[in-house]
Amino acid sequence: TLRQEQTPKNPQTSHLLPEFSLRDRVVIVSGGARGLGLCQAEALLEAGAVVHALDRLPEPAADSAFARVAERARTELASETDGRKSGGGDGSERLHYHRVDVRDQAALGEIVGSIAEREGRLDGLIAAAGIQQETSALEYTAADSDRMLGVNVTGVFMTAQAVAREMIKRGQKGSLVLIGSMSGTVANRGLICPAYNASKAAVLQLARNLAAEWGEHGIRVNTISPGYIVTEMTAGLFEAVPERRAAWPDANMLKRLSYPEEYRGAAVFLLSDASSFMTGADLRIDGGHCAW
Ligand code: NDP
Repeated sequence: TLRQEQTPKNPQTSHLLPEFSLRDRVVIVSGGARGLGLCQAEALLEAGAVVHALDRLPEPAADSAFARVAERARTELASETDGRKSGGGDGSERLHYHRVDVRDQAALGEIVGSIAEREGRLDGLIAAAGIQQETSALEYTAADSDRMLGVNVTGVFMTAQAVAREMIKRGQKGSLVLIGSMSGTVANRGLICPAYNASKAAVLQLARNLAAEWGEHGIRVNTISPGYIVTEMTAGLFEAVPERRAAWPDANMLKRLSYPEEYRGAAVFLLSDASSFMTGADLRIDGGHCAW
């Protein structure tokens, strides 16, 4: 029921102010097959965008959450963008899937280039692909650490780079949103591994520097730093230590966990003209994280 209470009742309200519209925009969402990335992708579709999801697994199954969102985009949401060009060939596909590991710079460049070519434009990115690995700090190996930083930092950097290169090549402005975490600025004892927290701190600084680098091209770069969200990533952490399910809500002022739906508005805001003078900033959405 909490989830229902938090889910926006009328998604059309995002169109109340025209500057929130993403009509005709083409946005890439890495980690868009599930979790936060998929939920944000759906919000962008509702705001009028065509979305290309990147993820590392094979095409999502017909009964997956991704397939349901793609079908909704084809049917219920299709009327909003009737008659516009879309990369789906028949004009009806508005959510596309591409398999790629974000650590693969060459493959990313190729896929992002082909998306921009096919759509004739590229307007935005949400970099949500990320991993978590919980191992004691005393047990962590160099390979574990390289993997964590490889996906959460280098993967995010390379995805942003591939997108910015296309925008600059096309003389297009754009907005990039990198998903950080409140764990990038707070320390967790015995909860989440230090390498994850270090990777998320790096994302914040990466975004600020990329914002400075690419600002002259009209490319904005911001981060969203979420608190604990109920997704498959946290489900694994709850499974490992069930008491966390009860304890974690105490870590914020609202005394509850959050749901991916609660980050929809932030994604639309940061990708749209509603945030046109905002860059190098962090939008922290963590229920008012505070000490236990
Ligand atoms: P999920 O694990 O549910 O989703 C992450 C997605 O990223 C998965 O589909 C995963 O694919 C994909 N992915 C992972 N590695 C790669 C890779 N190398 N290349 C391409 N895709 C990859 O996580 P969440 O939705 O919870 O997290 C999304 C983002 O939000 C992450 O950056 C996370 O760190 C951040 N975040 C999450 C919080 C939470 O409480 N859940 C809190 C704060 C931040 P696969 O299915 O193969 O794993």
